[in-house]
Amino acid sequence: MPSGIHSSRARRSAAALVFLASCQPCAVGAQTRAGELAEAVKAAVTAGALDRHSLEITRHERPSGSPGENAAVDYVVSVLTAAGVPVDVHEFMAYTSNPVSASVTVPGTDFAPAAITLAFSGATAGVEAALVDVGTLDDLPGLEVGTDERLDPLPAAGLEHVRGRVALVTGQPRNVPTTVLESLGAAAVIFVNPEERLNDLIVTSTWGTPSLRSGHRLPTLPVAQIRRSDGDRLRAMLRDGPVTVRVTTEVDTGWKPLRLAVARVEPEGSAGAPYALLGGHIDAWYHGGTDEGASNAAMLELALAFHAHRDLMRRGLVVAWWPGHSNARYAGSTWFADHYFEELRQRGVAYVNVDGIGQSGARRFGAVTSPGLAGLARTVIAAGAGIEVEAGRPGRNSDQSFNGVGLPLLQINHSRLAEDGGYWWWHTPDDTYDKIDVDVLKVDTDLYADALGELVGAEVLPVDLVAEAEAMIQALRWRESLSGGALDLSEAVAEAERLASAARRVEAARGRGAGWAEADRMLLRALRPIHRVMFVPGSNHHPDPGIHGRPLPGLEPVSILTDEDAGSDRYGFAMASLVRERNRILEAVREATVEVSRLLQLLEMAS
Ligand SMILES: [Zn+2]
Repeated sequence: MPSGIHSSRARRSAAALVFLASCQPCAVGAQTRAGELAEAVKAAVTAGALDRHSLEITRHERPSGSPGENAAVDYVVSVLTAAGVPVDVHEFMAYTSNPVSASVTVPGTDFAPAAITLAFSGATAGVEAALVDVGTLDDLPGLEVGTDERLDPLPAAGLEHVRGRVALVTGQPRNVPTTVLESLGAAAVIFVNPEERLNDLIVTSTWGTPSLRSGHRLPTLPVAQIRRSDGDRLRAMLRDGPVTVRVTTEVDTGWKPLRLAVARVEPEGSAGAPYALLGGHIDAWYHGGTDEGASNAAMLELALAFHAHRDLMRRGLVVAWWPGHSNARYAGSTWFADHYFEELRQRGVAYVNVDGIGQSGARRFGAVTSPGLAGLARTVIAAGAGIEVEAGRPGRNSDQSFNGVGLPLLQINHSRLAEDGGYWWWHTPDDTYDKIDVDVLKVDTDLYADALGELVGAEVLPVDLVAEAEAMIQALRWRESLSGGALDLSEAVAEAERLASAARRVEAARGRGAGWAEADRMLLRALRPIHRVMFVPGSNHHPDPGIHGRPLPGLEPVSILTDEDAGSDRYGFAMASLVRERNRILEAVREATVEVSRLLQLLEMAS
């Protein structure tokens, strides 16, 4: 019989347990031990300290692998060390890419607009070719679905003339349009920013440092970006007749040593306990004020405050300042997933990502979570900001590098409204310290304190397994309907319903396992396989390109079953993919059900 079920902690919080067991995970507030922890953390986090850390971190430009980033890492480490918070600094080589310069000219004219290139663009000392207007991103084909490693564009009738020419397209430079235009044989691409500005971005579909599986996807296409009005001028020239353009791009792509600071706050007397992982990127475009020196400051204050109140923690808190986000496509978080995979699998209760908080003029709260943490996000934001928010599904646009491990995800957002000019300084040299509002940052940090307080302080881990199972049932039905009934997922639905019903019985009994680390571990073992098939299209260990963001991404090819003739090769190949993915899903659901049944048995024995 596991010890700890009848611990003094559990007895002291008996009243809270009844509430948690019946309405889990919706208990937030000082009446619970987790609430007590969160209140203590919020009292310890001051606007003054957030301001001081923000100022120090944003003093430097911080592209990954730069002296500025290292100075920011040194600052974070020195503050943690002075407070006695254990911190490791991992050093590793990562494949990074810094945009250096770009030019777009029309030979024989004075047209020479401001231009930048993008991280992982192809490099060229000069490519000269006819310009062809392909419109907007919506005019480009998408990518073939259901493949992790080969990314081919869908058939694109009418775009054959792009071959050997410089494509002009309005939209933000991203990996999908870059891949598509490279595959179509374009000589280069000029992205026209939809606004009168230039935003630094990254155009590779590799995730983390490239591997032998993904390295072939590094772009070779030269990519430049110009402002909206300069795009208008090029289009006006095209209306008068053929235009030849010359594009140059210089990028500094290669291996750089990166440093990753990881603070570990252990609950008192419980070394090796499950932990929540809090992460955000310390590298930035330019001075990275709200993207995201302010977030780094919040993470630092949270690490200090939780450490000061670790006597109230039941689980650990690991805080990681990721390098390699902006110019290495999440190389820091991916390195951590790669090198701490087993530890994360055994002990990680959630990955809490922070990106872009503390924005001056922020007015809209939001959250993205995996299904099991949606209730926690809703409760925290309702209590802390007085606003009802439905959590959305996390995209593949930040350090979501732990889906293969199977960590539930949570991110709280607080952003500017379009009518206030939107987030106009994002990824530009204007993202400076003065864009941070420390009062907004304090509000945002407190919301994270509430969420983390629950995750590391609650007697019953606030991850909702019923919501996970129900989201899976819904996703299976949706995917089957997209197949037009050609893919039979009824067995998987029936298995997922069995899982949901076992999960409901567990939820009703979970209070009995309060404060019991083994109950957390068993719940997480049930969650992992579900999370993986809901978020990862293929391998759990080799990062996917991050381009398929919908539930059960391995079932993306169902649309082929309605688009193609049943006798075609493509239909047959899609069906083979789908039958194999169905096996993967069935295995995952059955594995989860076994774990849930075991947990239920132990909880019933504990009554
Ligand atoms: Zn960011």
